[in-house]
Amino acid sequence: ATSIPSDLAISRAAVPRPLTEVAAEMGIGPHLLEPYGNAAAKVSLDAIDELRDRPRAKYVVVSAITPTPLGTGKTTTSVGLGQGFKHIGKLGVVALRQPSMGPTFGIKGGAAGGGYSQVIPMESLNLHLTGDMHAVTAAHNLLSAMLANHIHKGNALRIDPHAVSWRRVLDINDRELRQIVTGLGGRTNGTPAETGFDITAASEVMALLALSTSLRDLRERLGRIVVGYNVDGEPVTAEMLKVAGAMCVLLRDAIKPNLMQTVEQTPVMIHCGPFGNIATGNSSVVADLIAIHGGDYLVTEAGFGADIGAEKFFNIKCRASGLTPDAAVVVAGVRDLKTHSGKYRVTAGKPLPEAMLVENPDDVYAGASNLRRQLANIRRHGVNPVVAVNAFPTDYESEQQAILDIAAEEGAYAAVSNHFTRGGKGAIDLAQAVAEACDQPSTYQRLYPDDMPLADKIETIAREMYGADGIDVSPLAARQLESYEHNGFGDLPVCIAKTHLSLTDDPTRKGAPTGWRLPVREVRASVGAGFIYPICGTMQTMPGLSSSPAAERIDIDDEGNIVGLS
Ligand code: ADP
Ligand code: MG
Repeated sequence: ATSIPSDLAISRAAVPRPLTEVAAEMGIGPHLLEPYGNAAAKVSLDAIDELRDRPRAKYVVVSAITPTPLGTGKTTTSVGLGQGFKHIGKLGVVALRQPSMGPTFGIKGGAAGGGYSQVIPMESLNLHLTGDMHAVTAAHNLLSAMLANHIHKGNALRIDPHAVSWRRVLDINDRELRQIVTGLGGRTNGTPAETGFDITAASEVMALLALSTSLRDLRERLGRIVVGYNVDGEPVTAEMLKVAGAMCVLLRDAIKPNLMQTVEQTPVMIHCGPFGNIATGNSSVVADLIAIHGGDYLVTEAGFGADIGAEKFFNIKCRASGLTPDAAVVVAGVRDLKTHSGKYRVTAGKPLPEAMLVENPDDVYAGASNLRRQLANIRRHGVNPVVAVNAFPTDYESEQQAILDIAAEEGAYAAVSNHFTRGGKGAIDLAQAVAEACDQPSTYQRLYPDDMPLADKIETIAREMYGADGIDVSPLAARQLESYEHNGFGDLPVCIAKTHLSLTDDPTRKGAPTGWRLPVREVRASVGAGFIYPICGTMQTMPGLSSSPAAERIDIDDEGNIVGLS
């Protein structure tokens, strides 16, 4: 195994190109760029119209088999694929989510890709960037303040204090804030209320910013946010609280996507970072609406496995954007398939079990069921899948071959990709496989029609994506579904909040389990974002820190350089 420098060292050694040049290659003129220092530039939404007459790129979503807690390498592969296109004479634009600072200082470290497939400069990407996260935080908390003040100042809308669902957000991992009481200290200091904080990535404002198609659409979605119900059980919105306009003002820059570049100077659009369980886990619609005319290929990552991230991409993001995909990459690695054999347990923040590092193609093959189902999930939407074998230094050729064999049995395009150790050169085979898949006709279709009852939509996803026999809806969830249909939200798509570590609701079950039912405990509504989200399992919307957080290793040296950011 070859050893390569740290991500931070590779990032810092890379030579960036002026962003005006990166933009020019996409057809984005300097008048559409708003530079934020040298690291990133915001792109005006006027670019959507100005680029419209340029050729349309092939649209490729990058998804994965059900991951381990260590990740499968979707971000790394997306960046590597974007770089790879340059080596076959094509321009690949990559569109990614902005990392949250909670995980940056928590367990995950940076999220800019890795090795020789990275977005640079990784310090800027992982820390603040152009302030979009903070703008989302500010807009979200303005609504919280206006809501509390409305209740305090006489409550003309007759909001039921027990039926308020709107909380507060911060971009940090801090478990102490999960459940709190506000308004203590007597009449002049507000009305006592039980509430709490979520991480900014879990804000509905983040979810709806990612799905907005224009500033006007953003303004309308903000107005539709339901913060709770009045004493008659009718929804109370941000529009009724007269705060949606001010929220939109706070977001007027945050709605513009951020242009950055890879270590090989190819374009990357970074925009929005919604959670993958209670939201879509996909980067923004506006970034894709611009970049779809910015190159030969537009590569965008969808969080988690294909059953979750790609399903939400097909049925929620594409529904909002009107864009249709041409191919879908399913990232699979040796360690992921071995985990699906059910023989090993992989834990976040811990090294892989020794036994997993022994050459064993049979173990890889034993995990095939998960890959087969995820390929079927892509095909169910009429899209051609491409298996990307994300090569790790610990892999054996026989093990990578086992994944290629499974892909061949399924009739899917496939390639081993060495982008991590070799950059774009290492992704040439993958880029060629994706190009071939894109040349086949795509018959993209959504999984369910808008007018299907909400419960049936949930059941359709559970059966057709997860392989469940059906759903078990709790009495609470049934009442909530009924009230959403009654309040006119029945046409919305559903965004299932479920563990990403299994096709089932139980994170310990690997492979592609059959003979199980999906329990639906509770159902919530993100009306502004435009989806209903059933809660299937316990969802953590405010992470905590571990006993050894990454923050302990991050520091600054005498030259002002950041150290310890992995
Ligand atoms: P995902 O987007 O699927 O969560 P990432 O691309 O962020 O996955 O990768 C998860 C982790 O694994 C990162 O720390 C990344 O640097 C590492 N990684 C990904 N691909 C490789 C590879 N081929 N070789 C070594 N490390 C890798
Ligand atoms: Mg990722």
